[in-house]
Amino acid sequence: MNIYELHEKTWKQLDERRDRLPHALLLTGQRGVGKFDLARAFAESLLCENPLPSRVACGACSACGWLAQGNHPDFRQVQPGALLDEGDDEDGREREAGDKKKPSQQITIDQIRALDEFLHVGTHRQGLRVVLLHPAEAMNRSTANSLLKSLEEPVPGTLFLLVSNEPERLLPTVRSRCQRLSVPVPEPSCAQAWLAAGGVKDAARWLALAGGSPLLAAELGAGGARALLDALVTELAKGQRIDPLAAAAAVDRAVKAEKRPAPLKRLVEWGQKWFVDLTLLRAGQTPRYFLTQTAPLTEIAQKTDLPRLLAFNRKALQYRTQCEQPLNSRLFLEDFFMSCAALFEPVRDRHG
Ligand SMILES: [Zn+2]
Repeated sequence: MNIYELHEKTWKQLDERRDRLPHALLLTGQRGVGKFDLARAFAESLLCENPLPSRVACGACSACGWLAQGNHPDFRQVQPGALLDEGDDEDGREREAGDKKKPSQQITIDQIRALDEFLHVGTHRQGLRVVLLHPAEAMNRSTANSLLKSLEEPVPGTLFLLVSNEPERLLPTVRSRCQRLSVPVPEPSCAQAWLAAGGVKDAARWLALAGGSPLLAAELGAGGARALLDALVTELAKGQRIDPLAAAAAVDRAVKAEKRPAPLKRLVEWGQKWFVDLTLLRAGQTPRYFLTQTAPLTEIAQKTDLPRLLAFNRKALQYRTQCEQPLNSRLFLEDFFMSCAALFEPVRDRHG
């Protein structure tokens, strides 16, 4: 099962635009929903020299070959350097120990300026050029303004495909130059079938934890991500019996062993979801993310109260900001677990 079957409706909307392409399309939707893969599949189908009757790329012609190798002369993919690294990391490749330069989290103005030449030489193949830019919110104002020039004076036969998790962070002038297409979260049954076809076990569990985003769920379901998650959940499930320093030590070992980027960020996001579930249960509602942990969550929820949970959820936003900075993971985790323990302290002057 592939991405256009997962997002059949959006694919159809894209397909309808094929013969009268706008200058710029903006695909929006929540993280991990599959927007980027969909945009990429659409670009491939446009540049393919011999599309299948269903109008998807053939995967066999020379254009498809160049796209796969990343050297199609009429295609540019623009994304932050850090994301390229993350992409590599999915194959389990480690960054070299001696590599000190930090990849950019942003699309740089140089990357946008470098498009100029690409946009102003003739196309090599079908008379169509495609620029895929992702995530579009990863541009500062001057970079976005530089892009705006190309959007305002569109070069014929050029399609800009912008993909964004947070379109509200785009310059309004950029947004208004694009035809917008929102990519909804697929039906759970469809997403589960897609995950199962991709060999993901416990699809429903991961899908819930990913808030319905199938690509995020696939990442969670992949073995590598689980050690970290399990370490965290083991500690959080101790509830009122959590020992903050021991928990920090245990989870920090998992963080240090983690090969994939931004382990703390993922931990904080999961932690946040754990406490959202706890808050929902305390308020007598159904948990949303940790479907297989309902029993321990229900028990723990009774040991704290809503005001403290809500205060913790606000604090979790600070943790999210903090963990973007380089920091001592052990100290960060100690602070995090001490806040968790404080949720269950029966009296104010007692220490967990
Ligand atoms: Zn092809």
